[in-house]
Amino acid sequence: MSGDPIIPAAPSTIDLHTHTARSDGLLEPAVLVAAVAATGVRLLAITDHDTLAGVREILGAGVVPSGLELLPGIELNAITADRLDLRESEVHVLGLGVDPDDDGLEATLALQRTRRRVRFERMVALLRELGRPIDDALEALPATGDDDALGRPRVARAMIAKGYVASVEEAFATYLSRGRPGYVPREGLGPVESIRAIRAAGGLPVLAHFSEAPERLDVIHELRDAGLGGLEVYYRTFDAVTVDAVRRVAEEASLVATGGSDYHGDLEPYAATHAALWVPPTVEAPLRAALAGSVVTR
Ligand SMILES: [Zn+2]
Ligand SMILES: [Zn+2]
Repeated sequence: MSGDPIIPAAPSTIDLHTHTARSDGLLEPAVLVAAVAATGVRLLAITDHDTLAGVREILGAGVVPSGLELLPGIELNAITADRLDLRESEVHVLGLGVDPDDDGLEATLALQRTRRRVRFERMVALLRELGRPIDDALEALPATGDDDALGRPRVARAMIAKGYVASVEEAFATYLSRGRPGYVPREGLGPVESIRAIRAAGGLPVLAHFSEAPERLDVIHELRDAGLGGLEVYYRTFDAVTVDAVRRVAEEASLVATGGSDYHGDLEPYAATHAALWVPPTVEAPLRAALAGSVVTR
């Protein structure tokens, strides 16, 4: 988005979209949580791709800083193939407030992780065929956990380390996006299956960073009818016009408006991202109301 940036009316106290080193972020979960708490955020969701490992670690170790509430979360990359005619042939669904101990969800996530690993290995092999091997650079990248969810950002960082590209954006634009030579299609859950898996684990399914929402009301209505409960309106990189337009879609479709930074830890310290993040406090009450009937209300 390149229009007028959002100017936070006050330091945000809510961030409902972050990643740790248990998926494709760089920070250890405990380090992220401490950095977030230090900025004055009171309500945080860790939403790693396909894994609740970071959430379980933090809750299990009892290291949530006082004054901070950790909402267990997940992000599922849902395959739309060409059916919905979307840019990346996938949409991302956040599950806010899921039960981190739900066996059914864990089985689903384990299958997603297996498919993700297979895709990752195919991307690495494809880059090798293209004369852009990254195997040694991958080994040198910071280690991630057992539940590591491998993704394109990790491939991109290895490509930067090898000097093939200058940035993650360039890696996507020249190699890793759909239609580019290093692109490997993803296999896994569709959006409706993702929404159902999140609902079954007591969470609120939220469509993430979907800037096309105002033009794709067909998608919004279809997913809402399938159980979608929220729309990510206050997304860190949306400009003011986009936020306003997506907020109106959420209102019209009776979806809970959420917001977050999608912080991965690779570009800047959390405090710098937070300084430009605007998630209004009015997000909190409708979110809590929507989660009230769910299994987990930590
Ligand atoms: Zn996403
Ligand atoms: Zn994300």
